[in-house]
Amino acid sequence: NKYSKEDVLRISNEQGVEFIHLQFCDIFGILKNVSIPIEELDKALNNELMFDGSSIDGFVRIEESDMYLRPDTDTFVIFPWRTSSGVEARLICDIYNPDGTPFEGDPRFVLRRNIEEAKKLGFDAMNVGPECEFYMFLTDEKGNPTTVTQDSANYFDMAPVDLGESARKEMVSTLKQMGFDIEASHHEVGPGQHEIDFKYDNALTTADNIMTFKMVVRIIAQKHGLHATFMPKPVHRIAGSGMHMNQSLTKDGKNAFYDPEGPMELSQYCYYYIGGLMKHAKALTAVTNSIVNSYKRLVSGFEAPVYIAWSGRNRSPLIRIPAKRGNSTRIELRSPDPTNNPYLALSVALAAGLDGIKNKILPPKAVDRNIYKMGRSELEDLNIERLPASLEEALIELEKDEVIKNALGSHVYNKFVEAKWAEWNSYRNYVTQWEIEQYLTKF
Ligand code: ADP
Ligand code: MG
Ligand code: MG
Ligand code: MG
Ligand code: MG
Repeated sequence: NKYSKEDVLRISNEQGVEFIHLQFCDIFGILKNVSIPIEELDKALNNELMFDGSSIDGFVRIEESDMYLRPDTDTFVIFPWRTSSGVEARLICDIYNPDGTPFEGDPRFVLRRNIEEAKKLGFDAMNVGPECEFYMFLTDEKGNPTTVTQDSANYFDMAPVDLGESARKEMVSTLKQMGFDIEASHHEVGPGQHEIDFKYDNALTTADNIMTFKMVVRIIAQKHGLHATFMPKPVHRIAGSGMHMNQSLTKDGKNAFYDPEGPMELSQYCYYYIGGLMKHAKALTAVTNSIVNSYKRLVSGFEAPVYIAWSGRNRSPLIRIPAKRGNSTRIELRSPDPTNNPYLALSVALAAGLDGIKNKILPPKAVDRNIYKMGRSELEDLNIERLPASLEEALIELEKDEVIKNALGSHVYNKFVEAKWAEWNSYRNYVTQWEIEQYLTKF
């Protein structure tokens, strides 16, 4: 373990920490905060801190609302930025019932449970490296976010500094101060679109890191007068924001997807894992692409996947095998977007891959050609199916898939589908600007 309870208390005192944010995440991937003054830290570290679970979306009913927060001391970090209340730190927490059992609606617990399944099959860890994309938009005179970027706003052409680039630089340096190992950061294809990649780690740490990453990106953008958004498709006809998930398993401390003797230097485990992901791809999309807007990104022409296929070469299929081998051997799942709940998204991906390994599911042949350019009959001949085209289709698939439902557990599954059907129906009833433009004068 990185930090003991005593370490956290000592460092907090040494650094003059005044407030601690106890963080956790709801089923929908929204970061929650319970802030406590430093005087309460000891109590919190003894797991004596209670909060009202009924106040959190998708958690529990009022009658059973008492929940306990158990801070994970390894997640202790002091915020490098200062606020009016001085030095602040945070701890990510697990959520427990009053009887001392883990709360099954806690996404972090769901991921822990799936990681245990991997251990039972002899894998020490799932490693994940995410590639988070996001847009930074200008805010108007009132400070409200627009969908105009500095790149596209020509009245800003004369601005001496590029707001987006300097915001991204500060994001990178802030993340580094918080212990992130940043591997790359660059402007993406869309105007105002950026990507920051950090080094892979075990699945639980990476899910925590993704939550922290999104928080930092928003805070730093705001400091620069910009609004950062992880919305998958904020602007029509312009590339959406994804969050590719690079993943691998380790066995006996070694990368279990690498086999110098195997076809393409990939192990049997790797092929089965791909087979499992492909088998459950439709259902798990409801979790990895969990909002109405996610499906406006999963369309052809923008490097986002539309078809369920894999390739060692090109970037149009759902799963790509990057060229690196040895310890870097991994598969890249290209469908997820950064609005998902990372704990749940990693849970369903892992469960799908493990199902492939358990049942020796072989993937179909790799498709090394551009799938976007194939006609319908060719797709049918090659047996290439497409991903769900809407949240509705994805939910229907999720309801049919026992492996993915099990990965979520009944509590999370029930709350998730209930809320997501409500979200879909609310959208379905809405009359959009597109319909007005198309039909109002025509009929
Ligand atoms: P791309 O070529 O798709 O743009 P990037 O270089 O942007 O990929 O990101 C690669 C990601 O994969 C990084 O987060 C990196 O840490 C991660 N990665 C590297 N090796 C592994 C591995 N063995 N398992 C999981 N992720 C890995
Ligand atoms: Mg990348
Ligand atoms: Mg790259
Ligand atoms: Mg990218
Ligand atoms: Mg990628």
